[in-house]
Amino acid sequence: MEELKLTIYNEFIHEQRNDLVKKLYPKGMHEAIAEYMRKEPGLRVKTATLEMPDHGLTEEVLNSTDVLMWWGHIAHDKVRDEIVDKVQARVLDGMGLVVMHSGHLSKIFKRLMGTSCGLCWREAAERERLWVVNPNHPITQGIGPYIELPNTEMYGEYFDVPDPDELLFISWFEGGEVFRSGAVWHRGKGRIFYFRPGHETYPIYHNKEVLRVLANGIRWTKFSGNTKTKSIGDCVQIKESLKFQFD
Ligand code: ZN
Repeated sequence: MEELKLTIYNEFIHEQRNDLVKKLYPKGMHEAIAEYMRKEPGLRVKTATLEMPDHGLTEEVLNSTDVLMWWGHIAHDKVRDEIVDKVQARVLDGMGLVVMHSGHLSKIFKRLMGTSCGLCWREAAERERLWVVNPNHPITQGIGPYIELPNTEMYGEYFDVPDPDELLFISWFEGGEVFRSGAVWHRGKGRIFYFRPGHETYPIYHNKEVLRVLANGIRWTKFSGNTKTKSIGDCVQIKESLKFQFD
């Protein structure tokens, strides 16, 4: 099996400040996700956090990353713009991006979507059902008709993003709202997957179905297309004569 190089970015702040979150994720949410992904065949896993030099996303790391996962919430504005520029360039050049939960307001997601990416939310430990609305997609494989989470933070429409290229999950919440919880977009050569679950005060990243979908998302967002296409400014002389057009 071909190796997939995964980097998991997490701002890693709630886990150090809030005792409840620390108890759920003693080593951070990135480590909970990494622990699961390290057991997945073919995945080589690295982690990165805000406090690391260049947020752990140095050129060397980004250039050797096939897929980047992103969790952020209260420190979106602390992510340096020059790092966002580099991440965006890598996505356009084919690096996959999996954005989780409150990452919808990250600089990189807003940059790639071009919209506010806003939504409405409520923290009331509600029940959520994430219904699969695209059974013929690799990301929804291996789970049932829906994933049920007993306690979640609610995210509701309107979710201000461009129409997804494919919609994979729609959530229903106990309070009555619905939300486009799983969706994919293409930007340049890159594939982007947004997946909603992941509020820090619930054990969402210990849920095997959530982790299964994320693992599927990682595999799907890895570039697997044509690497020989010509870029802008790269045109070569065609083999056929253009004589009659220019004579
Ligand atoms: Zn949240």
